[in-house]
Formats: sequence, C-alpha cells, structure tokens
Amino acid sequence: MQKKPSLGFFSFTGCSGCEFTVLFIDGILDILDKFNIEYFHLLKEKNREAQYDLAFVEGAITTKREIEKLKRIRKQSKFLVAMGACATHGGIPIQRNFIEKKELQKYVYNQKMLKDSIDVAPIDKFIKVDHYLYGCPIIKSEFIEFIEAYLKGKKKEQFKGPVCMECPRRGKDCFLNQGIECLGSITQGGCKALCTSQNVPCTMCRGPLESANFPVEIKLLESFGLSKKEILNKLRYFTDKVKSK
Ligand code: SF4
Ligand code: SF4
Ligand code: SF4
Repeated sequence: MQKKPSLGFFSFTGCSGCEFTVLFIDGILDILDKFNIEYFHLLKEKNREAQYDLAFVEGAITTKREIEKLKRIRKQSKFLVAMGACATHGGIPIQRNFIEKKELQKYVYNQKMLKDSIDVAPIDKFIKVDHYLYGCPIIKSEFIEFIEAYLKGKKKEQFKGPVCMECPRRGKDCFLNQGIECLGSITQGGCKALCTSQNVPCTMCRGPLESANFPVEIKLLESFGLSKKEILNKLRYFTDKVKSK
C-alpha cells in the first residue's frame, strides 16, 4: 500500500478560526484520512515534531520564539501553506503595530513576555511560503480544492486579480456608485465575492493586492466624507501595508 503523506497543522498568533473552519468541513475526516496526521493540536492529544510532506500554518508571528519555531517547521516541511489572514498578511493581530509601544506595555499582563515581543508580521517575512489560503477565516471550498490538487500531485494556481472580478455588483450596482465604501478593487480576490454578493461591502480580509494603489483609494474614501482616522482604520484592519497617508 502506498504511504500516506504526512501532515501538520500549526498555529501561531490568531484565533484558531481557520483550523476550526477546516474541522467544520463536511466529510473532513475522510479527507484527513488520506494523510498521516502528525501534528494538529485541535484534533489530537499527542502531537510530535516530524518531517511533514504538507504543513498548514495559521497565525501571525509576534515573538522571537515564534520565529524560531516557524523556521523549524519550514525545515521539516516539503510544502508549506500560509492559512488565513493572520498568516498571509498579519491579520487582526497586526493592528498592534499601530499602537504606541509605551501604551501597549501598560496593558500587557505578563511583563516578562514583552522582551520576546516583536512587531507583528505575516509568516513570509521569515520563511518561504509555497501556497496561500487567504481570508479571515479561510474558505472551505478553497481548502478542499487545494487538497484535491495536492493529492493528484498538482499545484493549485492562486487566483490573480481583485474581488471585483467575481463581484455580481460590478457596474451600476457597485457599492462605490452609491457612495458606500467597498475595498474590493484593492483586495486579493478568489473568494467569489462572498460578502458583496450578500450585500455586504468588502473589508479586505484577503489582504491587499500587490498592485493596490493606496493613495488613490484614500482619495476615494475621502470623497465619501471619511476622516483620515476612519480611512486608516479601514485600511489597516488586516494589514500594516498602509503606514501613513
Ligand atoms: S485569519 Fe481570522 S479566523 Fe484565521 S486565525 Fe486569523 S483571526 Fe482567526
Ligand atoms: S467588489 Fe465592491 S468595488 Fe468591486 S465591483 Fe463589487 S461592490 Fe464594486
Ligand atoms: S468579499 Fe472581501 S471581506 Fe468578503 S471574503 Fe472576500 S475578500 Fe474577504
């Protein structure tokens, strides 16, 4: 019988929502049965460090200790996937980078941990990533499509282009035409415009496109009457790419 590929799921700073999303996939146990699961804290009581054919990494990197562990996982893994906004772009934890360090220190319970703390960063700041599963949380169908391609020995292509490309509101129904802020045009697509097709503007949970033109976006949001603070809060929700206006 052919040996099953070994699999690891690892979590750094995040809410574990992406790992839970995986566990909530219909038929997930049949999918996972195609692998030897070596490491998955939410699923197994005993986990061991091993060599992994495939590793999923969730969460942003926030401490020096996490960098070491991440680099170790990279060395042990043949193919590594960044899973969810925290891992791909810093996600919600990256908002910490915009709080004054002195202010932050006042609220940290374990003051000893502060010495180990670094600016929050996505995992590809420290290691090579082979594939990205975007979103907060990730999308179940994208996870399944990736796994199916992987098991066939194929590489799943990343979607290229903004959320607008898949948006049913393109044209006169576009939120922007109604003066409603929607970040779809600067956001990494591939979610089948999950929110805008349900009447909810895009908040950029899949992170900004490489080509995102922030100065133009800021001007647009200003024309909607938003203050500088409101604009920065919107653009900095999942990423720290917008440093200042
Ligand atoms: S991307 Fe969202 S759902 Fe996933 S771990 Fe981060 S905060 Fe949680
Ligand atoms: S994603 Fe937003 S900006 Fe893009 S077409 Fe849809 S409503 Fe308009
Ligand atoms: S529409 Fe925007 S906020 Fe909604 S899932 Fe897609 S990228 Fe995320």
